This record gives sequence, structure tokens and C-alpha cells, in this order.
Amino acid sequence: TEKNVIMDETAIRRALSRIAHEILEKNKGIENCLLVGIRTRGVYLAQRIAERIKEIEGVEIAWGELDITHYRDDREGGDNREAMDQAAAESILNLPAGSGGIRDKKVILFDDVLYTGRTIRAAMDALMDCGRPRMIQLAVLADRGHRELPIRPDYIGKNVPTSRHEEIEVSLKEYDGKDEVYIISN
Ligand code: 5GP
Ligand code: MG
Repeated sequence: TEKNVIMDETAIRRALSRIAHEILEKNKGIENCLLVGIRTRGVYLAQRIAERIKEIEGVEIAWGELDITHYRDDREGGDNREAMDQAAAESILNLPAGSGGIRDKKVILFDDVLYTGRTIRAAMDALMDCGRPRMIQLAVLADRGHRELPIRPDYIGKNVPTSRHEEIEVSLKEYDGKDEVYIISN
């Protein structure tokens, strides 16, 4: 097993700054935008981008979290989506009080690594069950390829072409103590 750093703290900071600028440029500001981080590490990315946007534009952007651990179609426990009513769907989406929900919002989803696309598909299903966003965009820190669904990110920290037996490890200060991204070859 070999483990190599592909992004250090500086590279991560620069990538997130660039993504903050790209979000502002693409959306011509942040009006009606809402950042939603997926479960663990995507949440810290959404939070950091919100901070960066505040520094750049001087405006607060709402950010929340989505936990789709039990919403995937290919995980043990199978597909729970049919059994899920709207209340259940909303319980996995945590938005700040007063943000007014996702209806008619431009929702920008954040995840650490994009691989087959199944997690994002599940995240989009969950969001749709909570209301009808005006648009969904996707930001990822690393895109490792191997998509199995027609999903493509709007904002990418780093493209990391991987083979099937390689894996990416994302370490973020808030959760892992330091900022670093590695590629692990088995
Ligand atoms: P997908 O659903 O696109 O196949 O995989 C993406 C999800 O699984 C993300 O939530 C991501 O956190 C996790 N994931 C998939 N591959 C990797 C990887 O190589 N490294 C890390 N850290 N997470 C991965
Ligand atoms: Mg994940």
C-alpha cells in the first residue's frame, strides 16, 4: 500500500477559494442560493465556502447538512426511499432556522469525493422529497472518475483520475485534525 499527498493545506485553501469565486460568478452573486453539505466532510466544505463567500462579498449565505446514509440504493438495507414520506425526508435535511427551506432555491450540494455518482443521485432524491429547488449544482473537493450515472460536478477542487484499486483519503481540520488529501494505491 502506497499513500501520497495530492493536496496539501495550501492547495485545499486555494481550491476552495477558487470554488467560492466560481460560485459567485456562475450565480451572479448568491441570491436565492443555499449551500448543502453531504454528511460528514461535505458539511465542513459547505461551511468553509460560506465563510469564504462572506469574506469576498460581505454577505451571509445559508448552509445546511444532508445525511443520506440510509438513502442510498446500493447499500445494505436496500432502497428505503419508497418507505420514506416527506417528514422522514426532511428529517435528514438540516437547514438553519429561518432559511425558508429549499423551495425555489438554487441548492449547491457539497461532497468530499465524487465516484460513481450514486450518493449524489440519492442526495438529489432526498432534496426533491423536501421541496422543489429551482436548481441543483454540485461541488466536490476531488473527482476520482468512474461514474455509473450521468452526473457531473459544476465545481471541482481537483480532478484525480484513479484506477479502481486506488482510493482517496480526505483529511479536514475540523474532523481529522489537518487539511490534506491523499491517494492510496493498494
Ligand atoms: P459515489 O456515491 O459517487 O460512488 O461515492 C461518493 C461517496 O462515497 C462520497 O460521499 C464519498 O465520501 C465516498 N467515497 C467514494 N469514493 C471515495 C474515496 O475514494 N475516498 C473517500 N474519502 N470517499 C469516497
Ligand atoms: Mg461521503
